[in-house]
Amino acid sequence: MKCIFCYISAEKYLAENQYFFVIQDIHPITKGHSLIISKRHTTDFFSLQPEEMIALLDISKIMRNLLDEELHPEAYNLLMNCGSAAHQSIFHFHLHFIPRYHKDGLSLRAINAKLRSISF
Ligand SMILES: [Zn+2]
Repeated sequence: MKCIFCYISAEKYLAENQYFFVIQDIHPITKGHSLIISKRHTTDFFSLQPEEMIALLDISKIMRNLLDEELHPEAYNLLMNCGSAAHQSIFHFHLHFIPRYHKDGLSLRAINAKLRSISF
């Protein structure tokens, strides 16, 4: 089976750097919920190379700045599922970048339940 994250059009990128790109989550949990995805097909956080770790920090800060300017969230959840027992369903590195708002009313338990109920 083909990996869907290996076939995402660059037209959908919200941001990118050398090693990562960002798209909107197709089932957003909150307004602005995005996915940071590695350009290289690699399983999860633990298989990233050191230079990719640095680039992940860089693109995370780029996304925070973009979302702060556009949506003014009050906080963020950054979530990664590493392994099937942790409910990872697409085995290509992705990080859920979830803006949070005091009024969104979501608990971390509710966020995890929503992430488990959708495809990625
Ligand atoms: Zn892939």
